[in-house]
Amino acid sequence: MLELPGVWRRHGAAVPEVPLVMDSPHSGTSYPADYRHAAPLATLRRAEDTHVDVLFGDAPRFGATRLDALFPRSYIDVNRALDDLDPELLDGPWPEPLAPGTKTTLGIGLVSRLCGAMVPIYDRPLAVDEVRGRIDRCWRPYHTELERLIEATHARFGAVFHVNCHSMPAVGADGMALDAGRPRADFVLGDRDGTTCAEAFVGTAERFLAARGYDVRRNDPFKGVEIVRKFGRPGAGRHSLQIEINRRLYMNEDTREPNDGFARLRAALAGLVECLAGFARDRAAVTARTAP
Ligand SMILES: [Zn+2]
Repeated sequence: MLELPGVWRRHGAAVPEVPLVMDSPHSGTSYPADYRHAAPLATLRRAEDTHVDVLFGDAPRFGATRLDALFPRSYIDVNRALDDLDPELLDGPWPEPLAPGTKTTLGIGLVSRLCGAMVPIYDRPLAVDEVRGRIDRCWRPYHTELERLIEATHARFGAVFHVNCHSMPAVGADGMALDAGRPRADFVLGDRDGTTCAEAFVGTAERFLAARGYDVRRNDPFKGVEIVRKFGRPGAGRHSLQIEINRRLYMNEDTREPNDGFARLRAALAGLVECLAGFARDRAAVTARTAP
């Protein structure tokens, strides 16, 4: 295990033993002293993908390497592009052009404005330098290590399969989710409508989970955001898939404590990692044999 304190922790080898890299960008629970939020911590924590790092804790046993963010997603979100920032949050002009997306205008962007059901996170404007500090201390080092892992794996095996791991509330919050009030599937696999990984990769994950009785949807309502968009280039041997796990399968969403389903789900996810590790090894071997 290697750690950049407060920023990321890596489980598994610097270059994995199989061409499978995983990351959990939203399971961080170390709230920085300089956060200075006004919203209650319990409400803020609803933005966390709590326990996703532990649910995929078996990944290194199957030769994969996993990277976890340690800071909370609501402090700064590594799954958003640097220009996906709401200028309304700031006390002054941002020095570069901004392109806030739909979710950002709903309050959940690179730096979120709202949490829970429309609760303002701050009672003050954020200083431009404060946001720049979060980018430099958290966003950049996380992306640097994830990119290094993905590129080093590709260099060793000729292909890399990456799984970007998340969890979702059982039902989207009113006013903040695009599918507010509609119950969600057990799992949502996101490949940005077939553009970030090979069909066989997402299909393998889908069949594995469906065979265990889980209800699985693709790209509905989550297609994948910045991380799979940035790293998923299947034509260049870089495959990136987002997995969203329904939180009701493993925790009480009010107390955030694991529920009775936790152990069963963790065992199922260990099986999924083993299956995807085998798939990645076999596919990379074929790629290596057929390379010119
Ligand atoms: Zn997430």
